[in-house]
Amino acid sequence: MNEKVAKVGNWVLFVFCLPYLCVASYLVVALSIVLFFAHKPRMLPYRVLGAQWRPWWVKIWKYSTTFGRSIIYQPRVVDETPEVIDNPTENHEMVHVRQVEDRMVLAFCVGLVVFLVTGNWILGLALWTSGGVWQLPNFLTTVLRGGHIYRDSEHERSASAQTRTRGWKQGKSWLDHHLSKPRDW
Ligand SMILES: [Zn+2]
Repeated sequence: MNEKVAKVGNWVLFVFCLPYLCVASYLVVALSIVLFFAHKPRMLPYRVLGAQWRPWWVKIWKYSTTFGRSIIYQPRVVDETPEVIDNPTENHEMVHVRQVEDRMVLAFCVGLVVFLVTGNWILGLALWTSGGVWQLPNFLTTVLRGGHIYRDSEHERSASAQTRTRGWKQGKSWLDHHLSKPRDW
């Protein structure tokens, strides 16, 4: 990994994600806190907003969940070093962050083309903003292939395959083997 490019690139990706951050990603976390679903917000590396589900909600929803560049963790998997991404769950959720970044760049391109063709900037901006939820059709295609709606969706399979430690050498995941340094993401 070229770290100098990654440093600047992460800011560029942050800008590409801004519309989704403003209308959904950060807002979902803020609402979850206000409505007592989550608490303990904090900034994680790469300007990803983190929080934890409250104990009462964990009894109903036991998964860590990523909303664009925000992650609300199941408290059980939160470790002592929130400032570094260094456990399988953190790595798994960060895969989802990168998946959303990819879709936001694609959505920007689609929105830009629509704006240039139609002159309708509201439609273009709406398309760009919607990029964060473009992985929802994965749940439909998964079901149509006969798979489990959640576990077998391609974005979940990718995140699981990259971060599962079982079956790899020395208990390390595929990501651990491919990172340029141990705690980089
Ligand atoms: Zn996942």
